[in-house]
Amino acid sequence: MLARSSELATYSSDGLPGYRLRPRLAVFPTTKQQLIDVVRLLAREHCPFVARGAGTGLSAGALASGDAVVIGLNRLNRILRIDPANRLAVVEPGAVNVTLTRAAGAHGLHYAPDPSSQTACTIGGNVAENSGGPHCLKYGVTLNHVAALEVILASGEIVALGNADGEADGYDLLGAFIGSEGCFGIALEVTVKLTPNPQGVRTLLADFMSIDAGARATSAIIAAGILPAALEMMDGPTIRAVEASIYAAGYPADADAVLLIELDGLDAGLDADVRLVEKHCLAAGARTVRIAANEDERARLWQGRKKAFGAMGRIAPDLVVQDAVIPRTKLPEVLRAIAAIAARWQIQVCNVFHAGDGNLHPNIGYDSRNADESRRVGMAMRDIMRACIDAGGTITGEHGIGLDKLEYMPQIFSPESLAAQCALRDAFDPERRANPGKVVPVHSCREWRGA
Ligand SMILES: Cc1cc2nc3c(=O)[nH]c(=O)nc-3n(C[C@H](O)[C@H](O)[C@H](O)COP(=O)(O)OP(=O)(O)OC[C@H]3O[C@@H](n4cnc5c(N)ncnc54)[C@H](O)[C@@H]3O)c2cc1C
Repeated sequence: MLARSSELATYSSDGLPGYRLRPRLAVFPTTKQQLIDVVRLLAREHCPFVARGAGTGLSAGALASGDAVVIGLNRLNRILRIDPANRLAVVEPGAVNVTLTRAAGAHGLHYAPDPSSQTACTIGGNVAENSGGPHCLKYGVTLNHVAALEVILASGEIVALGNADGEADGYDLLGAFIGSEGCFGIALEVTVKLTPNPQGVRTLLADFMSIDAGARATSAIIAAGILPAALEMMDGPTIRAVEASIYAAGYPADADAVLLIELDGLDAGLDADVRLVEKHCLAAGARTVRIAANEDERARLWQGRKKAFGAMGRIAPDLVVQDAVIPRTKLPEVLRAIAAIAARWQIQVCNVFHAGDGNLHPNIGYDSRNADESRRVGMAMRDIMRACIDAGGTITGEHGIGLDKLEYMPQIFSPESLAAQCALRDAFDPERRANPGKVVPVHSCREWRGA
């Protein structure tokens, strides 16, 4: 248990360092029974709590303040069972995403959702955020890969959601829990579906002299009926940040956009799809289309993409990573709007995102010690969110609402819809002690504190 102010500093922020809130205590159960005992003790004391996995969340979701206790789950990190016959695995909530894929590899299987943070983030955190990743374009997000959950509610009651043996009867409460951002209880055990490794993989890098051309290629590939396993875009500032870092991947540093495209499946037919993708990229204005010659080259191309946020850490002391989804066909228009917003507020935006599903990640490097710059970053974020909403999009694709997106909720949900979300939350946690103050704005959703 940690209680001293200095010890709690680590647990006062997550992957979005602009937010800092100090919890009352942080506790770290090492067994399932200890976790159950902690939640039941907190229930007896009517004390609020916040589950925390690896703290890589990008919406300030794992932060606790006032009397709230952080329950760190990273010591509950065991892979309890791999069942290759049924392509299932049972894991503790603190199991790190990539360790599951590594363990399943021995059976020719993997866990498909692959957030770029997968070397650190936990399966419990992935469940709470309904996380995505580059390969979720073809394979689907966390929701599509969880078969069942054992959950402890804030009251201390343990419930089983979903059914590892097939379809569950009744309402889809498993679906309701996935993406509930720690507000419906704590996932104690997670049964996930494993995916067979594809027979063949081809990884392509196409570079463009304009973002528009890259966006046109993205739409053309999907419109042609090809479903890549991944279709990621990085803009010029991102490419240059990656190439100047230890993650340099050999991207052309003078390009204004690159697309990283992966095709996988049965070997037969894969090369025909590669030729089609190449044709659409060149038609949209690609300068070159390169195909990774071997596994090393493929890994290097992916490292650049997955470590792009890390590479941006060299540019400025602080980084805001935003997350919004827009219709794919609106990519050129919204990316132009983001460039205009960056110019208006005199900030630099780097875009690295899941282009295939229209899931944008504008990143802004800044110095939080500079009050004026911090203010301009805040205004730019607001304008970017508005531009995405106006384009028919929404305010998060995978990073969740947490604290960061609270103010935008009324822009996309009516008061009735927010009240319905509160009512659903009450079914799981009527005292609203699990992750209080997150997801639904407090004036819409009476919190334990206001009660
Ligand atoms: C460099 C970087 C790249 C990223 N890339 C991606 C990406 O590609 N795709 C993506 O979707 N996200 C991405 N993220 C965001 C983040 O990694 C994910 O949201 C991840 O799922 C968070 O997992 P975590 O274990 O760190 O959870 P935390 O940050 O600790 O917690 C996140 C939320 O989950 C709740 N929670 C945690 N464990 C449980 C549990 N067992 N039961 C109930 N609630 C729980 C917490 O209360 C909190 O609300 C990225 C983050 C970084 C820093």
